Amino acid sequence: MTFRGDAGFDTSAVSKGGGGGGIGGGTIAVGGGGIITVILVIVSMIFGVDLTGLAPGDPIQPQSQQQGEEVTGCTGADANDPANVVCRMEGGADSMSAFWAATMQQNDLEYADPTVQLFDRQVQTGCGAATSAVGPFYCPPDQRIYIDTTFFQQMRDQFGAEGGNLAELYVLAHEWGHHIQGVTGQLDRVQQGDTGPQSSAVRSELQADCYAGAWIAGASQTADQGGGAPVIESVSEEQMRQAVDAAKTIGDDRLQEMSGGGVNPEGWTHGSSEQRQTWLLNGYNGGVGACDTWNAPQV
Ligand SMILES: [Zn+2]
Repeated sequence: MTFRGDAGFDTSAVSKGGGGGGIGGGTIAVGGGGIITVILVIVSMIFGVDLTGLAPGDPIQPQSQQQGEEVTGCTGADANDPANVVCRMEGGADSMSAFWAATMQQNDLEYADPTVQLFDRQVQTGCGAATSAVGPFYCPPDQRIYIDTTFFQQMRDQFGAEGGNLAELYVLAHEWGHHIQGVTGQLDRVQQGDTGPQSSAVRSELQADCYAGAWIAGASQTADQGGGAPVIESVSEEQMRQAVDAAKTIGDDRLQEMSGGGVNPEGWTHGSSEQRQTWLLNGYNGGVGACDTWNAPQV
């Protein structure tokens, strides 16, 4: 995926800098000296946090959050720079905002962007405290996507993904997909503890992959926020192949194999490598309308 070099981004969705101290001993202090017990986000594996650690609909009290500072001033050329993850996330968010605003409008649905919070090491969220170890996730109560910017390097070094700009943006687009599910009520269909290849957890995750694919396909045809030229020029076959490679890398079967425990489909929460690449491509080839994982007899 290549951004138009002179593109400017006008989204205010992305902020960075939620990191550092403030978390310790299982409690955090908030204004007035009150103590709130941190709801620890329990995660079984990378990417597991965005749903498995949460019970959608649970009355989780939003806690004080680190707002960070808004990311501004990035150009398309910055977003194309392999070393500039922050601007890539900014550019991706700008494009996703335009794509989903248009898509939701076509379907007469209300829509507001999520906030993308880039952080370093640890962060306080509406879902409790989180560290880099949990991987990127979406927190429904505060409608924020949390991404540790070192995750993409981990995806290459530890999990063996090829990487590439679109592989990174796929991760953001997947989390954005969970936000869409939240807006449309589809997140409520996930039953906690329901795991396995055809479970509600896996169907939700595969739909998020499918939505990511739909955005990838539509990005270069979506006018920017002001109605001008798309901020994304093109997606090459090579870039798409790298995004599919990323989806495969984080399949449950692959991660189970890597952890040395053997493959246990009943424990799947996100789908196998094959399921994940299939649904990413379903969205890429068929658009948002091809993403009804809930009514598919088999996913
Ligand atoms: Zn997910």
